[in-house]
Amino acid sequence: MKVILAKKAGFCMGVRRAVETTLDLVHKEAGSITTLGPLIHNPQVLDLLFDQGVTIRNDIPEKISGTVIIRAHGVSPSMKERLKESGARVKDATCPRVVKVQAIIKKYGSDGYATVIVGDRNHAEVEGLMGFAGPSAFVVSNREDVGKLELPGPYIIVSQTTQDEESFDVISRMITGRFPGGRVFNTICDSTHKRQEEVRNLCSRVQAMVVVGGRFSANTKRLAEIAEGMGRKVFLVETEEELKRSELAEFDIVGVTAGASTPTWMINRVVRMLESIPGRGEGIIRPFFYKSLWLLLSTNIYVSLAGGLLVYTCGVLQGIKIGSEYFFIAFGYLFAMHNLNRFMDQRSKKFNDPVREQFVNRYRSSLFFLAVLALVSALFMAFMQGMHHFFMIFCMSLFGILYSVRFIPKSISHVVKVRGLKEIPGSKTLFVAMAWAFVIVLIPTWDKISFLSPSNVGAFIFILLLVFIRNALFDVFEVQGDRIVGKETLPVFIGEKKTITLLHQITLFLVLMLLLFPLAGWMSSTGFWLIPGVFYLIGLTYLYENGHLIQGPRLEFCLESAFWLMAGLGWIGGFSRFMLT
Ligand code: SF4
Repeated sequence: MKVILAKKAGFCMGVRRAVETTLDLVHKEAGSITTLGPLIHNPQVLDLLFDQGVTIRNDIPEKISGTVIIRAHGVSPSMKERLKESGARVKDATCPRVVKVQAIIKKYGSDGYATVIVGDRNHAEVEGLMGFAGPSAFVVSNREDVGKLELPGPYIIVSQTTQDEESFDVISRMITGRFPGGRVFNTICDSTHKRQEEVRNLCSRVQAMVVVGGRFSANTKRLAEIAEGMGRKVFLVETEEELKRSELAEFDIVGVTAGASTPTWMINRVVRMLESIPGRGEGIIRPFFYKSLWLLLSTNIYVSLAGGLLVYTCGVLQGIKIGSEYFFIAFGYLFAMHNLNRFMDQRSKKFNDPVREQFVNRYRSSLFFLAVLALVSALFMAFMQGMHHFFMIFCMSLFGILYSVRFIPKSISHVVKVRGLKEIPGSKTLFVAMAWAFVIVLIPTWDKISFLSPSNVGAFIFILLLVFIRNALFDVFEVQGDRIVGKETLPVFIGEKKTITLLHQITLFLVLMLLLFPLAGWMSSTGFWLIPGVFYLIGLTYLYENGHLIQGPRLEFCLESAFWLMAGLGWIGGFSRFMLT
């Protein structure tokens, strides 16, 4: 079925900040870490945090040891004071937008204004705001509450940050109608406003809406109410397992949105599951195409084939002819390594890509057998080319397998801070890129005169950077799941924004290299032909950054297709050179 995902679905700024603050503390702080109340309204994320040692406390005893995190909703000043007095290390993760509302209440409160808060009386954020307003605080949860209000003097109206825009508008007009002169501050957060607006727009394009989020999350429930109010059938689910396949199969186009406390990996799981459900009027061609594509991606055949074809492209770049045996060596090695590594990286994949994980688990033995067969074939073919070829592939395979092994003794791990190569932040991104560059560029040219010539080095850098970009982008897509399981990828280590900036710089460097190397005579003119392929990658990054692409088979297909595009452009470049000579 066709699935349209709302651009603003998932963690809002405040929730992301609170979760990241907590995960940072988990990695840095010694001693117990607790949150005052559940950090966010999402049981799956809370379970994962619990696995990492983060527990929830609901009261403030006289003495507390360790760190206590104040969640994004904030707390009243008196509660914060009590926390400090208890001896706890207090980490305040109150969302800056909630802090802004607290500041408004504080300022007008000191000028003698009463405060009317439009929101849910029992919500933690409202309770915290009431603490700032003191005895002159009033909470209005619905229109009926307006009739019970008594406001003798000047007053302000603020809203809970996740209030429904329309009901706040109606309620605040009813209050100012009864008590003229009140100052109204629409403190509904921008993220909530945009999310609700998008759901209203999305409802006109879809037949049903799936809202992903915690059952106790106020803003998630509000999104569901808005979609229902727009006349759409709504499915409110916490996980993909709650999707009612038979009911959903009645629709062709389904919209998906999520509350502010729903992590991206959970949304992606739901989207992937929905995409695998055939819609009512879909016929057989689209599902067949989707399944075939998914199979090629899941088995890593698609990416490994492209890797094999790039051997030829790099040969053309260097102006040399490379035999087809190197295609098979590259394909066999890449297929084997990608699949074998997949078995060793199941924890984060469980979050980021559960449908694929189920597939891998189901066909584990067959995939393992095929991977070993491919590796043995690659080794055999390398052996046929010479002992040094065999030795290189053998060492690279050993390195690939040892990568996940913790071989550094515990006794010295406090000095080097890691127990294995895998634990070096961002190492996988670089090591995988190097393995690709070795098998695609260096091995085929090992005993040729072009080895380590400028064109050889240029082709090596080209593949190294191309694969680095691909790997780092995948890491960016999966950053939330990786972060939560403590996987040290590049975006986890330096942040998403810095990673994207680095990738922009690398792509710029690649463009310049493909332009200047051929002009300097260090590379064949095929380099020019590859430049559109780099622009394709820039375009993909731009689309992702702006929310036009989401993690899933389509994005994966688009990204892996960059290699196919490069291989195709290389073939065209080679052919055009052949025609001209
Ligand atoms: S919904 Fe808005 S105010 Fe609330 S935590 Fe998220 S960003 Fe902050």
